[in-house]
Amino acid sequence: MDIEAHERTVRSRIAEATDADALRAIEREYLEKGGVVADLLASIPTLPPTERKAAGQGANALKRAVTEALESRRAALDGAQLEAELAAPDFDPTIPARPLDAGSLHPITQAARRLEEIFSSMGYHVLDGPEVELDHYNFEALNIPKDHPARDMQDTFFVSASGDRSDTSGALVMRTHTSPVQVRAMERLEPPFRAIAPGRVFRQETTDATHEHTFHQMEGLVVGDGISVAHLIGTMKTFLREVFERDLDVRLRPGYFPFVEPGFELDARCPFCESGCRVCKQSRWIELCPCGLVHPNVLRAGGIDPERYSGFAFGLGLSRLVMLRYGLDDIRHLMGADVRFLEQF
Ligand SMILES: [Zn+2]
Repeated sequence: MDIEAHERTVRSRIAEATDADALRAIEREYLEKGGVVADLLASIPTLPPTERKAAGQGANALKRAVTEALESRRAALDGAQLEAELAAPDFDPTIPARPLDAGSLHPITQAARRLEEIFSSMGYHVLDGPEVELDHYNFEALNIPKDHPARDMQDTFFVSASGDRSDTSGALVMRTHTSPVQVRAMERLEPPFRAIAPGRVFRQETTDATHEHTFHQMEGLVVGDGISVAHLIGTMKTFLREVFERDLDVRLRPGYFPFVEPGFELDARCPFCESGCRVCKQSRWIELCPCGLVHPNVLRAGGIDPERYSGFAFGLGLSRLVMLRYGLDDIRHLMGADVRFLEQF
C-alpha cells in the first residue's frame, strides 16, 4: 500500500471513530512500536538508495497526518461530550458547590494583628525576636544577673546548644518573656523610637486553668527625650480605648520587675460590669500588665545613654487579653489545638 492510500484509509477511520477507545486503538496501530509508521521506517534500508529519501519523507508525513487527525477528532469528541452533558436534564450547573472548610485565624493571631494595627497607627515599629534566646538578652541585659533572685520568678526551659543533655551551662534558654526584644530593639534603632514585639514565650509551669507552658505576650518599648510615666499612662489609655471601644480608667500599683524603675502593675477598669462581676472577681479592676520606666542598666545594655534618654516599657499578656475578650476560663484552650474550640472564632 502506498503512503497516500494509507493516509486516506486512516483519515476515514479516524473520522468515523465515535469514542476515545477507538482513537486510541488507531493510535497504537499506526504510531506506536511495531505500528504502520514504524514498519515503513524500518523497511527503508531494504529499498534501492534512490527511493529511500522519498520513503522516509512519506513515512514522516503519514505520522504527522495521523497525529493531527487524531488530535482534532479527540477535541471534537470532547466538545460534543461536554455539550451532551450540559444538555442532559440531570446536570444542573446552578447547584451551589459544597462548602469548603476554609479555617480561620487563631484568636491570638487576630488579637496580635489588631494590636499591631493600633500601635502601628501610633508610630510603633512591629518587631520580632528569637524564641530560643541567649541568656544575655533574656536575663543579663534586663538587669537580672546570674545570682539574682528574680530568676526564680520565671521557671525557665534551658536549651543545650550542643544537644548534650548534661550541658547545663544555660547559655541558651526558651525566652521566658518578650522583654529580650527590648534590648535587641535598642541595639538596632536610634532613639527616639517606639516598638512593639508580639510573640510566644515559654515557662516551665505545671499547667492548669491559669498556667500554660507556652503563651503569648506583647512587649512595648518607647525611648526618647524626657519619656515619663505620664506618657506610659496616656499610651495605655489610648490603646484600651481602641481595644474596648470606650474610655477605661487605669490605675498604677507599685510592682517589682528588675528591668524597670519605678515598676508598676497597671490595672484597668473592668469593661464588663458596673458593680463587680466574675471576670474582675468583684473588684471592678482588671490586672492588665506589668510596666514601668526602663531601668538605666537596661538602657545601658542596649547601648543607650540613660543620662540622655529615658523610656517606658510594658509587657501585655496577649493570651490573657484574649481570655478577657472572649470570657475564656481556661488558658489551655488557646494552645490545645481542639478544632471544636477554634471553630468558634
Ligand atoms: Zn467586672
